[in-house]
Amino acid sequence: MNDRGSLTLPQLVEADWSARLRVSWQARFAETPDVLKSPQHCQTVVPVRDFEIGGDEFITMAGPCSVETEAQVMSTARHVRSAGARILRGGAFKPRSSPYAFQGHGLEGLKLLDRARAATGLAIVTEVMSECDVPLVAEYADILQIGSRSMENYTLLETAAKSGRPILLKRGMVATVADLLRSAQVILDNGNPNVILCERGIRTFETATRNTFDVTAIALLKHISHLPVIADPSHAAGHRDLVPALARIAVVAGADGLLIEVHPDPDKAWSDGEQSLDFAEFNDTMASLEPYIALRGNALRRAADVRPMEAVG
Ligand code: PEP
Ligand code: MN
Repeated sequence: MNDRGSLTLPQLVEADWSARLRVSWQARFAETPDVLKSPQHCQTVVPVRDFEIGGDEFITMAGPCSVETEAQVMSTARHVRSAGARILRGGAFKPRSSPYAFQGHGLEGLKLLDRARAATGLAIVTEVMSECDVPLVAEYADILQIGSRSMENYTLLETAAKSGRPILLKRGMVATVADLLRSAQVILDNGNPNVILCERGIRTFETATRNTFDVTAIALLKHISHLPVIADPSHAAGHRDLVPALARIAVVAGADGLLIEVHPDPDKAWSDGEQSLDFAEFNDTMASLEPYIALRGNALRRAADVRPMEAVG
């Protein structure tokens, strides 16, 4: 083994000269120059509490679609923590397709997430839907989630950016990669460098699954952008039996982490139960990811091995 064996993932990305963008990619995404890799900036590492997103550690965010009850949130938090998750997800403000469906507990939901964080040490990611709610949600959340339906709400993006919290930016369901990068650029332009991109499936002619998981977008985003990429196989698949396979595919495509919906009793979930894993399924999924996560960095290591060492800053 040579001395590249001890490099961190961001250093390997930097050492991999193939990561330097071809002029054609730069031209295609010229509108959003600050999200693209450059020789000076190949990988953003987002600090969250006592860990980082976009660094060496593969990060899993897991939890229920909606915050429902104290027992549900606490048991899920304890379980996903013991299975290796770093971040608890859970919606307190819910963007529902039906105006008559459960819209979330709002502040009471945020307080339950806060209690779960205190009990487990997990960080919290939760959605903010309106710019009016940004100060409140930012008080409770370690990461603000901008949902698919809000990806092009530029006032929300600006206000969320200015909160200073890292932003998990979910790709809109009919958004192109260029659209996603435009929204990321808006957040950067408003002084917040800590943007995490999220591929969560897009609408296509295929209706067998809830969405079509765009694994090409994960590979493309990792190739052209320095921003960390999280994959959400739950909203992509819409069916819990497909989630483990899509999660493994996301690791191989280069994602920096996953967002997975987990519920103590998915058939009784108030939202997205059909795509939520139960505790045993989450354990199995996490265990099945291990060999793939262990291989992370190897492809980059091989690429960096054949490149000049001066590329490492
Ligand atoms: C969610 O994370 O529960 C959610 C509503 O996701 P999306 O915005 O991707 O639909
Ligand atoms: Mn959901």
